[in-house]
Amino acid sequence: MKRSYLIKPLVDEQLPEIAFGRGVYLYGADGKEYLDGSSGAITCSIGHGVREITEAMNEQAKKVSFVYRSHFTSKAAEALAEKLAELLPGDLNWSFFVNSGSEAAETAMKMAIQYWQEKGRPSKTAILSRWRSYHGITMGALSLSGYPERRVRFTDHLASNPDVSAPYCYRCPYQQAYPSCNLMCADDLVRSIRRMGDENIAAFIAEPIVGAAGACLTPPPGYYERLREICDRYDVLFIADEVMTGMGRTGKVLATEHWDCLPDIVVLGKGLGAGYSPIAAAVASDKVMKPFQEGSRVIMSGHTHSGNPQSAAAALAVLKYMDKHSLAEQAARQGQHLKEQLKDMQSSFPFIGEVRGRGLLIGIELVNNPNDMTPFPKHLKAGAKLVELAFRNGLILYPASAGVDGGDGDAVIIAPPLTITIQETAELLKRFKRTCIQFSQWQKEG
Ligand code: PMP
Repeated sequence: MKRSYLIKPLVDEQLPEIAFGRGVYLYGADGKEYLDGSSGAITCSIGHGVREITEAMNEQAKKVSFVYRSHFTSKAAEALAEKLAELLPGDLNWSFFVNSGSEAAETAMKMAIQYWQEKGRPSKTAILSRWRSYHGITMGALSLSGYPERRVRFTDHLASNPDVSAPYCYRCPYQQAYPSCNLMCADDLVRSIRRMGDENIAAFIAEPIVGAAGACLTPPPGYYERLREICDRYDVLFIADEVMTGMGRTGKVLATEHWDCLPDIVVLGKGLGAGYSPIAAAVASDKVMKPFQEGSRVIMSGHTHSGNPQSAAAALAVLKYMDKHSLAEQAARQGQHLKEQLKDMQSSFPFIGEVRGRGLLIGIELVNNPNDMTPFPKHLKAGAKLVELAFRNGLILYPASAGVDGGDGDAVIIAPPLTITIQETAELLKRFKRTCIQFSQWQKEG
């Protein structure tokens, strides 16, 4: 196959060519079968090749695929916005559709800044975020991302430095343990707000469970309740970046629903279109929209393909499918089972330092020495090795950063489609065990 576009292969010099996908499986052009243990990039949450979705897209394409958002609305986009308002908690009722998670994060930033302008407080423009976070690859979203591996080359062009601590209990930044820590990492937001002055801060953004930059860092109880309280105390909007965690992935429609914490703006992507079409959204609450409705009525954002009817039809069909098959509940059940099985493997495979996450979003942090939790030296590329071995065994995993300061620390994310059955979960574990045996061998050989 001619190398026609620029992309870094994870495994071989040459990426294998995809033929087709069905359910949790993908098939290469050479006939090789892969179990999609990470839903691609935690995206294909309803599995591959679902006919209801392709038919809905086809129906829409027969009518019209594209209209410009300033010229027309469409039944598909309106129905999608309504469905989201019905599914999402509280008063998260106003969707602005874009094409990628990065764009949605940037739209949420703009909504927050403009909200305060409309309220007559234009100095509130800064957006705070956490160290160990990922909000997207475009410069604005990357500015908010506490992810050194992706930032370093562009530092001069990044607008802000995320500095709020992430809830990384396995390696607590304060060398404390829950509950005696009294959630010092959540209170760190107060320090950050005070440092800049709350009169200058529009919003705080966080991923409910840290994805790529921390391999599923999951906070202890009370953490998000504390953050919500701090945001309210200082008049700071709370933006939940649920690009990875949203749409049933963690066992609830939004991961923030695991806690008593309703965001002011939610960022959605990945599972919204489930890979059938690129679509993402920034969804604002009634509270955030009110000053716009009473004021300029304009959100200064938008892309050519915002609200694209074709993508909206795909996402609407995905959400209906999720609802019909109770996939959030299934993710909670299967995720619990899978996580327990992975934890059981820790005794046989000591390099599995921690298994964390919620629902079908499970992070595995790898350690070179389990006794003192020493990470693998960077040059060994242990995470990439595990991903490579798994790929050869017909299991797709997602490489992630463990979140250790200095960019050290290897981790992988296991996040199969929410449709995965018990038998398919057993197959996933079988392939993962085979991979772990080979990885142990590689580790021994040094
Ligand atoms: N936010 C989070 C939490 C993500 O995980 C990602 C993608 N990994 C993004 C934003 C950016 O989304 P996209 O790659 O679609 O631009």
